[in-house]
This record gives sequence, C-alpha cells and structure tokens, in this order.
Amino acid sequence: MHEHLIGCAASGTCPSPTAHLRLDEVHTFWHRCLDNYQEPNLFRTDLNAGIQAIRNVTFALQKEMRHIEGFTEWYTPWRDAMTRTPVLKWLVQARNQIVKEGDLVTHSRLRARLVFDYYAAAAIAEERAHEFALEPIEIESEVLASLEEVRANVEELRLPDAVLADGIVVLERRWVAEGFPASELLNAIAYAFSFLASLVLDADVQFSATRPDLELDPDTIGTVGCRYPAALRPPCMVSTHRARTASFRYVDGDSNVGGFTSAIEFDPEALKAAAGKYGPPMQVIGARSALDYVKPYAALGEQILRSGEDHGWFHFFYRGGERLHTEFVAARDRADKFALSQQLAELAIRIGADGVLQVAEVWIGRLPEEGQALIPPALQPDRTEALQIYAEISSGETRGLIIPFSRSAFGGVQIGETIEESHPSNFLLPLRAAWRAGRRGAPEAGS
Ligand SMILES: [Zn+2]
Ligand SMILES: [Zn+2]
Repeated sequence: MHEHLIGCAASGTCPSPTAHLRLDEVHTFWHRCLDNYQEPNLFRTDLNAGIQAIRNVTFALQKEMRHIEGFTEWYTPWRDAMTRTPVLKWLVQARNQIVKEGDLVTHSRLRARLVFDYYAAAAIAEERAHEFALEPIEIESEVLASLEEVRANVEELRLPDAVLADGIVVLERRWVAEGFPASELLNAIAYAFSFLASLVLDADVQFSATRPDLELDPDTIGTVGCRYPAALRPPCMVSTHRARTASFRYVDGDSNVGGFTSAIEFDPEALKAAAGKYGPPMQVIGARSALDYVKPYAALGEQILRSGEDHGWFHFFYRGGERLHTEFVAARDRADKFALSQQLAELAIRIGADGVLQVAEVWIGRLPEEGQALIPPALQPDRTEALQIYAEISSGETRGLIIPFSRSAFGGVQIGETIEESHPSNFLLPLRAAWRAGRRGAPEAGS
C-alpha cells in the first residue's frame, strides 16, 4: 500500500491538508475490505470505517476552507454535482445510518455463470469496463454455491456436449447493500474516492499560489468526457474482479484456464535486430489510430513470412496513433480463448487503449455450398494458411487484410494475393462491449 496516494497539487500552501489525510484513509479501508472480502465480520467493520472516511473528506475540506475567499463560489458546483450523483448521495445516507442506527444491511452473494461463447464473455467484459466509473446493470442470475450445483443447473438447459466442452464457469463473490443493490460495494467506494480525489485536487489547483495546468470539471468527473477519466482512480482500485472471481473449465473443473499472455517490453536492441532482418523499423508518420497500422504491418508480416519464420499471435494496443502496449497470447482451446478475450478487454480498458491491432495466423477455407453445413476451415483438407492483420478502434471502425500463403515441402513460401477483410472479429466482442460500456453515464441507484 502507498502513502499519500493522491499527492497535493498545490504549489503554494495546501488549502486543506486534512482532506488529503481523510482521502488516504478511504484508500486504506478500501484495501482492507478487499483483503477481507471473504470474511463478513471483518469486511463490515472496515466498510463502516471506509464509508465514514468518505464523508469526512468533505467535512475536513469545508472546515479548513470555509474562510478562504471565493470558497462558496468554487464549492457550490462541486456540491451540486455530488447531490446529482446517485452513488455519492447514497453514501451520505449510508454514513448517517452507520453513525445513528448501526450497520448497513449488506449481502454477500455468489454468482455463477457459464461462459460458452464470445457473447457471454462480452457480457462479463462489459461489466468489468463499468468498474472504471460506472456500474453494471445487474443481470438476474441464479445464486449457486458449488460446481455440482452449477452442473445440475446447466444440465437442465440441455446444451449440446460440444458447447459444454468449451465452457468455463465464472464464480464471483459480490458485496452489495440494501438500498444500492446494483453496485458492488468496493466499486461504489472506489468511484467515490476518484470523485473526491478530483475535488481535493481541484481545491489545490484553484487556491494555490501558482496554478498548474489541470482542468477538472465536476460535471464530467468519471465520465468519458473528462480529460482525466480514470486518472484519479489509482490502478490498484480499478478492478477487484481478479480478487473476487474464480474461473474453471466446466467439464473437468480445471482452474487453469485463460491460456497464456505475456507483455512484450519495448526493446530497442531487438528492434534494431529485426530492422536488419526485415527492413527498416515500422513507423507511420501522422498515424491517427490503430487502423493506420494495418497496411504497414501487412508489409512487415509478408517479410517475416518470406523469411520462413512463424508468426505468433499478437495484440498491439494503441491510444490514437501511439502504441501503448504489446501482448503475445496463446490458447490451447476455445475455453482458453473465451477467458483470454475477457482478459484482453480488461487490459485495454485498464491502460486506456482506444484501438487494437491483432496479428494472427489463421486458416481460410471454402464457404458451404447451398444446403450444406459449414465446415470449420481448420477441418477442411484443402484449407489455406493465411496471416491476418486486423484492427479495430473504440468507435467501432474496423480494417483488416488477409495474406494467404503456403509452405512447400522444401521450405519455400508462396504468398498469395492480399484480401481485404474487415468483418468484425468475434474474439474482440468483449473488448467492443467494454468500449461501448465506457461511453455510458454514471452509476444509478438500483431499485
Ligand atoms: Zn493539497
Ligand atoms: Zn492502493
């Protein structure tokens, strides 16, 4: 854990040092709640303390700043924004209840879901994306306790074996409070933290000797319209899913699902070596998004193919025309791919990527003739290998190229005519859903 997570931005004297301390308390209790997520009594104690600390941030700020000239004019729009924000309004009520009446009525729920296609993976990714600023609309689900119960429930659905063979079960524990049931509690508190951190920083900026370049608008905090959408939610508070969920393969209960991912660090030496081998390093002047990299990657991919080397499965993440991150992935089967597709969506949201470019080796086959069933290309004897370069950005625009190739028995490589193919990728459904979720408004109180 880190001291003074949100540092003081005042370059002169801090207008409200106590508000910073209370903010740090919120952060501390939030971590304690997460550590004690499976221990109801400990969780409740820390939750009560955390909710009170949230309230104490504004108390401290008002107390320390009320005599400063211009305070009321500055604070009024912030106060109004807080009253308009359901999660903050609810937290004020919750604090009053804790102080005057005792504990909140809370429930710890276990949700189990079977994921057997990219649509189900997308539903989960969409909820995770909401964790930044927003909260999912609760999907009505059975409350189940064990793999046996999940199995019994799934058997009633009479799904084909082939579907179940690829399925993964996602078990998730959630703490919710009566009166605000749509929000997982730590997410609600993390949202409040990011909002109050913005408020405290804005006080620093507005009332310090010299003003740093920081523009915070109470109306856009936590939304995509904000210039600092997730900037004030520290990375450690972005997602609690990993700590709250367990995934396993439906057929055998194997908890080792999710394939393999590994981040690739930018390595100038490796790049120089690659440049010597495949031509100059790729750089696109004036690129505005991941889409602008499709053609250059196709050219590079062709060179790699001609060199006789295999191509891995890569994901390059972009913000605008700038590459943020590279991830190499591998999957053993479809179950792994479902889990991977969720993980990559979560990663993209966490790093603030608005575009992705995927490089993969694929099979291309014939489409079925009329009245015939579709045979997956990988199972067709006269299938062709191909290198696919596909990019998609958060607005939904896609661009893709496919380079068919065949390897002869003597090691030569025949490269076919490049095909344009921009059909939206199924594997990226979860990321698409997460981006869409990120464009929606602030959390709503549940019914
Ligand atoms: Zn300060
Ligand atoms: Zn932390």
